[in-house]
Amino acid sequence: MRVVVVGGGVIGLSIAWRAASRGMSVTVVDPAPGSGASAVAAGMLAPVTEVHYGEEALLELNLESSRRYPRFVAELEELTGAETGYRSCGTVTVARDADDLAALDELVAYQRGLGLDVERLRSRELRRLEPGLAPTVRGGALVAGDHQVDPRRLVAALLEACRRAAVRFLPERVEAVEAPAVILESGGTETGDVVVLAAGCWSGQVAGAAAAFGRSVRPVKGQIVRLRRGAGPLPIERNVRGVDAYLVPRAGGELVIGATVEERGFDTEVTGGAVHDLLRAALELVPDVAELTLVEAAAGLRPGTPDNAPVVGPTAVDGLVAATGHYRNGILLAPVTADAVVELLATGEVPAGMAPFSPRRFDKVLSR
Ligand SMILES: Cc1cc2nc3c(=O)[nH]c(=O)nc-3n(C[C@H](O)[C@H](O)[C@H](O)COP(=O)(O)OP(=O)(O)OC[C@H]3O[C@@H](n4cnc5c(N)ncnc54)[C@H](O)[C@@H]3O)c2cc1C
Repeated sequence: MRVVVVGGGVIGLSIAWRAASRGMSVTVVDPAPGSGASAVAAGMLAPVTEVHYGEEALLELNLESSRRYPRFVAELEELTGAETGYRSCGTVTVARDADDLAALDELVAYQRGLGLDVERLRSRELRRLEPGLAPTVRGGALVAGDHQVDPRRLVAALLEACRRAAVRFLPERVEAVEAPAVILESGGTETGDVVVLAAGCWSGQVAGAAAAFGRSVRPVKGQIVRLRRGAGPLPIERNVRGVDAYLVPRAGGELVIGATVEERGFDTEVTGGAVHDLLRAALELVPDVAELTLVEAAAGLRPGTPDNAPVVGPTAVDGLVAATGHYRNGILLAPVTADAVVELLATGEVPAGMAPFSPRRFDKVLSR
């Protein structure tokens, strides 16, 4: 089986590594692997904290991928010797005022109704857990089972794992898909038995793919800031989620604050207003953020879809498989997506857990 993967973000690289490990001959075509949304993401692996009303099917998939994460990173780290920054830290959701508290109580009731493990905390309990939180916080909730990973380290480890598994890299932009071949910007052609389109928010831009699902994937801009501690420890240990921002403390001393959600097409400008809003929201929750060194502000493009769920499986075009549309969960969903696509390539069947996320679910809507 010769597989051509278009796009070397966390999704394309995970698929390439897993497919090559199963003995398939894999080529990844990407002018700059690892340069997309995967390089900007915060790396929260928080299916319970981030559950959204009405997205129960997606929750199941997120939980399944979360369960597969420890083995996924353990194999990756053992194979490459690289660290991915994967750690089990838990997340606290924080309420600043009575309105936040009311919304939090509703969310906790919803999470418990779904059988999820969440602990409601009073203000004093919350601050005992995280003394760096502002004294004014009104209460919160702890999801001890949430994790995090460093997406940049994860991508670096995946690139190394791919190289070791003899994945071929073609540093080129794909202009068009003529499955099972792709036409390169340089004019050349790369032919396989199947093409896997994993070009993130750009997936619908590739000619020949748009017919399959192009209008269902769009860019959703997210801005983020990164800070670093000086000599002392970071002011928080766990992921902290507020209404207007979340904070992700990494073991190496980095703190990531995210993220805006903006419908601005393919624009990746970093704006003063967004940086201001993120820092203000973070300072309100954790005042000592003011003491950290600002090292980076960045913007990335999430591959959004009409129902916020990924697009994974065979498309209407013969020989073209989609693995995109992971929106705000692409880092979390990498293991389960890679397993599903490799299973499809090996057996012709999509695993049951991935069936609801078929690209074909948009066929009727899009043909109207
Ligand atoms: C601010 C922000 C915060 C986020 N936080 C989280 C988080 O905490 N947890 C989480 O799970 N997810 C998070 N996400 C979402 C996550 O980053 C994405 O869902 C995920 O990175 C998508 O991965 P991907 O491989 O599909 O796309 P990308 O990482 O965007 O990769 C796409 C690749 O395709 C290549 N490409 C594009 N066009 C072509 C072409 N024509 N030919 C060849 N190659 C092409 C690009 O060069 C790129 O390397 C966040 C996203 C943002 C922006």
